[in-house]
Order: sequence, then C-alpha cells, then structure tokens
Amino acid sequence: MGPSPWQDATVHTDVLVVGAGPAGLALSLMLLRSGVRVTLAERSSCFRRDFYGEILQPGGQLVLDDLGVLEKASARGARTLDGFQVLGREKVLLDIDYRRLPAPHNRLLALPQPHLLEELLAACGPLPGFTYLDGHRINALTEGDDGRVTGAVLTRLGTRRVRVRASVVVGADGRFSKTRALAGIDAGRREVFDQDVVWFTLPAPGRATGRVRIHRAGKAAVLVHDTHPDRLRIGWTLPHGSWNQLAAHGIDGVRRDLAAALPQYADLLHEHLTSLSDLSLLDVFAADAATWTGDGLVLLGDAAHTHGPLGAQGINLALQDAAVLHPVLVEALAASDVRRERLAAFEAERRPVADAVTRIQRVQAMAFFGVGGPLAEFVRARAASVVTRTPAGARITSRIAYGRTPVRVRTELFTAGAAHGPRAA
Ligand SMILES: Cc1cc2nc3c(=O)[nH]c(=O)nc-3n(C[C@H](O)[C@H](O)[C@H](O)COP(=O)(O)OP(=O)(O)OC[C@H]3O[C@@H](n4cnc5c(N)ncnc54)[C@H](O)[C@@H]3O)c2cc1C
Repeated sequence: MGPSPWQDATVHTDVLVVGAGPAGLALSLMLLRSGVRVTLAERSSCFRRDFYGEILQPGGQLVLDDLGVLEKASARGARTLDGFQVLGREKVLLDIDYRRLPAPHNRLLALPQPHLLEELLAACGPLPGFTYLDGHRINALTEGDDGRVTGAVLTRLGTRRVRVRASVVVGADGRFSKTRALAGIDAGRREVFDQDVVWFTLPAPGRATGRVRIHRAGKAAVLVHDTHPDRLRIGWTLPHGSWNQLAAHGIDGVRRDLAAALPQYADLLHEHLTSLSDLSLLDVFAADAATWTGDGLVLLGDAAHTHGPLGAQGINLALQDAAVLHPVLVEALAASDVRRERLAAFEAERRPVADAVTRIQRVQAMAFFGVGGPLAEFVRARAASVVTRTPAGARITSRIAYGRTPVRVRTELFTAGAAHGPRAA
C-alpha cells in the first residue's frame, strides 16, 4: 500500500465556526475579543463573490459600529442610499425614507460583501487564539459517547485533513449548510415566494439613483440600486419558472424586455448587456431549520433561517444573530455547560424575529409583485400612503431597519487580548 494522500493535523479550540460569511466572521470577532479561542473554517480561499447581497440595514450597521469595523469596511468602497422606492410607470407608489430615522444610521448602505468580510477578518487576524482554515470544507461532525458534538473533520482539496476538537461547533455555512445536514437537522425549506431573481450589474458613471428602486412592470418587478464603484446592480424578479422561456429568445429578447421595464437605462442595457452569461439566476426560497441548537452545536444566520432578497434582511439578521449568540456562548463556556438546554436561549430569542421577517416578506411580495384586481390595487395604494406619510409609517420604517428592537454587541464581555478565556471541560 502506498503512502496516505492525506496530510493530517489536529487543532484544539473552544469554538469551531464553520463558514466565514457575515454571521461566522462577526461571531468569531466577538468571541475572540472575549478571550475565547476560535477556529474558523471557510471553504473558499477568497471573498470574491459575484451576487451575494450587499444592502445593509441600520440594524446591521449598528452591530458593525459596536465592533468598530463599519467605517473601515465602508472606506474600502460603499454607496449610501436614502431608502426604498416602489415605482409604477415612473410614479412613486411607495417611499420608505430612511432619513426619517435618527442619525447616524439613517440610511441604507450598499457595502460589497468582500469589503465587509475582509475587514472583519483583518480584525480577527491579530487576536490571540485565532486559527483560520481557508479553503477547508466540513466533512464530518464528531460526537462523544453521550451524543454531544465534540468537533469536526475538515478537508482541503483531498490533500489535507484537519480534526478540530471543540467545545462547541457553530454552523454559519449559509443556506445550503453542510453542518446542518451532517447534524441531521431538516432545513425546513419552503417555497413561499412565486418569484425567481436574475441579477447583474452595469457600469453607470453619473447615473446614481441614491435609493433602492423597485420598478413594477406587469407581472415582473425590477430592482435597481447603486453599487460600488459607479455601477448599478439590477435584480429582475420574474414569475417562478418563467426564466427558461425568456432565455430561449436569447440576449436580444432579454434586453428588449428589460429595456421595456427600464426605459431610462435602455442605452446602458444595449451597450453592456451582451451575453446571457452576464446574468445569474438565483433560487429564491425561505427556510427555517427544525432546530437551531443541539448539545455542543448551534446554527445561525442563513444556516438556521433563510429569507428572500426582498427587503434586504439576510445580512442584518446574520449580524444580529451573532451579537445575540455571543453572550450565550461566552457564559456557556464559562459554566462548562454547552448542552442544548443552555444554548437554546439563543434560538428562543431569535426564532420569533426570523419568523416575523418571513411573514413581512410574504406580504411585501404579494403587495408589490403580485397581480390582482382593482381591490388589490386600492389596498396597495392605501398601505403605501400610510408608510409614506404618517407617523405609523415612521415606526414601520424603524421596524424594517432594526427589527423589533435594536440589537447591541455586549462589549462589556470583551477582555483585552486574552488568549485563553472561558472554556468547557
Ligand atoms: C441574490 C441574493 C441577494 C441578496 N441580497 C441581500 C441584501 O441586499 N441584503 C441582505 O441583507 N441580504 C441579502 N441577501 C441574503 C444575504 O446574502 C444572506 O442572508 C447573508 O449573506 C447570510 O450570511 P451568513 O453568514 O449566514 O451566510 P453566507 O453569507 O451564505 O456565508 C456562509 C459561508 O459559509 C461558507 N461555506 C459554505 N459551505 C461550507 C462548507 N461545507 N465548509 C466550510 N465553509 C462553507 C461559504 O463559502 C460562505 O462563506 C441576498 C441573498 C441572495 C441570494
């Protein structure tokens, strides 16, 4: 028998976080600053992502400000947006104006995810107790005799195998979470939206909108917002399953349909949209994992609950999840008790928030993408005027921006530069 192709290594840590998205990186930083050793495993070797969401709500901005990374991440390149507008035949049907909120987070930010993730990683990098395993995927969870999760096996390109022994494993590996699947937890996928989304960007110097605009056009809606640097990001929301039929007409047909919905950008579409390969079709669904916690195991962010892109809530929720999970983990490790009963405090606080977002997104999808008779049009117009003009509308805007209450990072748990903090036995 020849030599094993595997290079084996073992890492001992307090918390293994799987997935360096917004949830995994923010949680890692909070734990490291609290003196907890963290190993963070990420399957990619870089943060170049083409079509991950980038609109950041004030609630997420607040969490990043508490961590001191918002300004630095924005300085890498971001766009400020005043709010959401829904337009029908160029008439403003709904105006959600974030400038009504208290400063300084009285705006949306289009912050490219690589800028956010690189800044969070840069903050984690120098902290004692941090191990970053990029290019590593989770392959198996390990369990003790009592069934408690005790770590995981990670592999890199079939050449390196790392056994991580940890008091807690956190699945922050997104909507198709492998950690969740390995733990045998049902994803709870639900087809609650009747739309698919096709995404692309166009260079558009001097054509900034200053807002996220949703243009209603027949059975479709097209979302447009500024993105760094000097581009427009466009999300074409189509009735579920209709893309193949449209794509069969080739790029000329697609361009024609888009130009009809967005006549003001017809020139940019004709100049820059030259191939179907410029477009990415995204699978839009909601999911709600059967449980978010086990003995020695937690799921957060998209791994626990997935939402549609409408209303830009996923990053917000992921960052807020991290801020709520942080004290639960610090205290559980200090008490050497990582049983499910203790970790479930996180789920009890966050599940109702995630459920509420799904409910609101379903109403938004029906109200603004759905078709209907004159009654539906009347109800839409009434609801829009309440949100646009009244004090109740200001409260609704705040709810969309922050959730029920703003979430703050428990910075009093931070310990200056401690390498070995609370640890489970
Ligand atoms: C088209 C689209 C547009 C969106 N627009 C917005 C928006 O504008 N605003 C907003 O707030 N939200 C938006 N969202 C949602 C948002 O992107 C997610 O909710 C958010 O990124 C979730 O963060 P997360 O950290 O939980 O997961 P993710 O960002 O998905 O991060 C998971 C990480 O885990 C890694 N990973 C996956 N599998 C493994 C494995 N087996 N081993 C190791 N690592 C693994 C991945 O590479 C990734 O880095 C959008 C989503 C889509 C699909």
